[in-house]
Amino acid sequence: MRRLVFALAAAAVGFAVACGGPPPHAGVSGKLIILGFDGLDPDLVERWMREGKLPHMAGLAGRGGLHHLETTHSPESPTAWASFATGMNAGKHNIYDFLVRDPQTYLPDLGMVHREPPRFLFGTFPIAAPRLTSTRGGTSFWVTAGEAGVRSSILTVPVTFPPEHVPNGELLSGLPLPDIRGTMGTFYYFATDLSRFEEGRTEFGGLVRRLVFDGNDAQAELVGPPHPIVRQQLAALGAPPGDTPAAAEARRALEAQADVRVPFSVTWNREARTANVQIQGQTIHLGEQQWSRWVELDFRINAFVRVRGMTQMYLATAGQALQLYIAPVNWHPERPPADISSPPSFARDLYQRLGHFRTLGWAEATWPLNEERLDEKTFMDDLYRAFDDRAQVILSRVDAANWDLLVGVIESPDRVQHMMWRLIDPQHPMYDAELARLYGDSIEQVYRRSDAFVGEVLARIDEDTTVLVVSDHGFHSFRYAVNLNTWLVQQGYMTLRGPGTGDKTLDDLFGGGTFWEHVDWSRTRAYAMGLGQIYVNQRGREGQGVVAAGAEYTALVDEIAAALLELRDPRTGATIVRNVYQRDDIYHGPHLDNAPDLQVGFESGYRTSWQTALGGAPPQLLEPNLRKWSGDHGAFDFETTAGVLISSVRLAEDAPRIIDIAPTVLRYFGLPVPADMDGRALFEAASPDTLKP
Ligand SMILES: [Zn+2]
Repeated sequence: MRRLVFALAAAAVGFAVACGGPPPHAGVSGKLIILGFDGLDPDLVERWMREGKLPHMAGLAGRGGLHHLETTHSPESPTAWASFATGMNAGKHNIYDFLVRDPQTYLPDLGMVHREPPRFLFGTFPIAAPRLTSTRGGTSFWVTAGEAGVRSSILTVPVTFPPEHVPNGELLSGLPLPDIRGTMGTFYYFATDLSRFEEGRTEFGGLVRRLVFDGNDAQAELVGPPHPIVRQQLAALGAPPGDTPAAAEARRALEAQADVRVPFSVTWNREARTANVQIQGQTIHLGEQQWSRWVELDFRINAFVRVRGMTQMYLATAGQALQLYIAPVNWHPERPPADISSPPSFARDLYQRLGHFRTLGWAEATWPLNEERLDEKTFMDDLYRAFDDRAQVILSRVDAANWDLLVGVIESPDRVQHMMWRLIDPQHPMYDAELARLYGDSIEQVYRRSDAFVGEVLARIDEDTTVLVVSDHGFHSFRYAVNLNTWLVQQGYMTLRGPGTGDKTLDDLFGGGTFWEHVDWSRTRAYAMGLGQIYVNQRGREGQGVVAAGAEYTALVDEIAAALLELRDPRTGATIVRNVYQRDDIYHGPHLDNAPDLQVGFESGYRTSWQTALGGAPPQLLEPNLRKWSGDHGAFDFETTAGVLISSVRLAEDAPRIIDIAPTVLRYFGLPVPADMDGRALFEAASPDTLKP
């Protein structure tokens, strides 16, 4: 019993046996490939197709068609890909946003996954692996098809972590597969030219530390996963207020060990402008602007348990100053701390065939560019490698040809648009003519890379294989951030408690580290969280609810919706909100209680602020977006945020929606469409005479 994955290895044996399964459905004549490109925008596809820049997609569209693909409420990747997989609206699959809120405490948590930490006997021996369960409801079409004998390969589709068992199939997890710290991607940045003020944890998930050299050498450490045994001991100590001096001392000692750390040293050769990083017996030699190979790391929890990870390092400069970037530590595909594939051996098989590949769900370095710890060139070099890691996995499975249905998703188009939109929009506050000259074609280049990838896949398959190219949503410019909670305060829907004097100032909230600490819930009727979501503080549902369900609720949501539509940009008079959707008009299903009461659909140019997403209410209603994260889709009106559908065969139905893909696939393989799916099949079965009743 050496590793945390022990218990899961036993389950792997069971999975391998179960995968023997029946042969594929006898009536199927053609195979089906779905290539997903997150965030591919229909207007940009049409423009660059007209200009002859996307020849393979144009060829496919010529055979079948190019369509706008209606997205979901809200138009975000987790929601839209969950609807893609299940054919259901969010009221049935329960993924409304990246965040979920706890109605009792009003606190946000990362959606999609529920975690329970591992447990240890006598604080030493692992007796239970960490338990991860998806919060997504509904059944994926590859599971339904697999049960009927359709063989599938499902590759890095968002919202497939933790991996579900796929009968007659294989699945490699995508988002929200975390890094070694359990986050969406904690990067590390070590530099000599940092002030103490800059050190610490950044808003967007970086650990920034100053390097202090003694001669040519500096010591530092990588902060790894939370230490499960120490956290267990800390939890057992109970709440701090009752601490004796001895208990307080014990608490401080434990808190210092609350994360598993890996020390390393840096030796700097200033004349040669190089550095050697020594870590766990490995020496990594780096010149300026050079990336390392993959570096494998062991995070040892105790003699019995260690967690294996892998990362890449980048030396930005080593002349006047030394700046070292270390990418988020990915789970190692050969020995991940929990399953990342179905069957569990599939990720290991891929590793043995392909070598290292990124496992982190959010594979691109958006946060370090946003925090200005990487520059545009480095971000783009890295983004192409992320693209190629996903592409090589998909191509290797296309070649394996042991499937009837293959679904592979690449998210790099979404990431490049989030970060580089400012360079194709001269009206964006972060537009920079010089950067635009150098990197203004980044988005176009990634679309062209996507097109070339479609070409690579087409060259490997026969004419009978049906191909769909799908994106989950389009894109908009994010020029101004709208503080929705600030608006709720100004309109009297939310009340803040000023500290001391009773004065209510918005400044009190700004910079506060505690969620909602100044909100007077007894006089608050609505609050905003996530991307464009507004919740009513409803009695009996929220912990300190004041609004009665029924007539009072209905009057309130009507009033807020109407008022939001009147919101104008004070500088220009422009409309800010294009649509406001009420819960019962857009969602239905068993998870309705988790739905927002209002979903705001912003006009292009305006988006909920990051502060609002996390429940904050800064002083200003509107703020120019001064971040490099400059394009977006979440919180924009779903009517103007459609994705793309390119089909190699003609559709039998107009106006396709992303919820139609799942029933379309089932019908394609001659299977009945389950009654609880909200979508409908877009084309006829490949062999209509084999249609089941
Ligand atoms: Zn996105």
